Amino acid sequence: MMESESASGASLSPAEDILQEPPAIEVEGLTKIYGADGGDSPIHALRAVELRVPRGEVFGLIGPNGAGKSTLMRILATLEIPTFGRARVLGEDTWTSRLRICRQIGFMPELFYLYQELRVEEYLAFFASAYDLPPAGRAKAVEDVIELTDLGVRRDSFCGSLSKGMRQRLLLAKTLLHDPELLILDEPTSGMDPQARIEFRNIIRTLSKLGKTILISSHILSDLSAFCSSVGIMEQGRMRVSGTVEEISRALALVDQVQVGFLGPPGPLLDALEEFEGASAVELRDGCVRFGFEGSEEGLARCLKTLVGCGIPITRFEHRRSDLEDIFVRVGADQVS
Ligand code: ATP
Repeated sequence: MMESESASGASLSPAEDILQEPPAIEVEGLTKIYGADGGDSPIHALRAVELRVPRGEVFGLIGPNGAGKSTLMRILATLEIPTFGRARVLGEDTWTSRLRICRQIGFMPELFYLYQELRVEEYLAFFASAYDLPPAGRAKAVEDVIELTDLGVRRDSFCGSLSKGMRQRLLLAKTLLHDPELLILDEPTSGMDPQARIEFRNIIRTLSKLGKTILISSHILSDLSAFCSSVGIMEQGRMRVSGTVEEISRALALVDQVQVGFLGPPGPLLDALEEFEGASAVELRDGCVRFGFEGSEEGLARCLKTLVGCGIPITRFEHRRSDLEDIFVRVGADQVS
């Protein structure tokens, strides 16, 4: 097997080589000011954004309208030039390596135009040729993306006759034609009905299993919480937090939540929990004892044993890890405080 050379000249094993691979996305101090060249009221769309997305992640970008998500994505897709800072995609600078990046990424913009009078298969064949795929591989590329996005039954339908969900699937199919390593999907589920959203999510999961790195934006939390391995929350051009749910939970000091159902007086349970290491914010609410918990699985088991030892019958012991929703609530709460 071939070995490659590191910058220092030492040879690397294949495993080390993979570890040396640059992340899919690296953004440093990225700032975009529209109208910076003399307009009356310049708009700060991005303010010193920092972001790192390792390869293989499904990274969700969340934020309200105007937060800067599309601007960030367009810069990563090499369609906008930053005012300050820099962005690297798959190790290449978006400013100096535009063509090389374009060959390796698939960008699905929020707004797009479909040639209404073309049929689905014709539309894809047209783009397979526009993307300059090798002629011998075009038909297979079209078939592969039709299968991936489950568009087989609509291959002969006119683009103009497709529902919103089908149109989004077709646009995704087009985005996948050149088998890009990184997908940048700007609000792909916006305007879809719940069933279409579920189907779209399943396609994203399949793409993730195929090893694609995916950057996907939405202002609807539930769209992303189901399948994103990490997230970034944007607000007014700033990246408020980013990382895996565990990393952000730790940074925000979010703790897991436990609910205990019981029969009889809660006093002994409350007393025991006040003393128990790792338990915090103990309260009685809606007939349940609730508390935050920080500790290992063993610690949790000890906690349950302690409560059972209080002699009060326990009917329920529910442990819930902090999730994206908790993070969003906390960040949202910080915004108004
Ligand atoms: P949405 O969810 O509504 O798409 P977003 O988070 O994607 O919002 P952006 O579209 O990046 O946000 O917009 C960020 C800010 O930059 C907004 O104030 C927007 O009006 C402004 N903006 C975006 N594109 C341009 C442009 N081409 N010229 C001037 N201002 C722009």
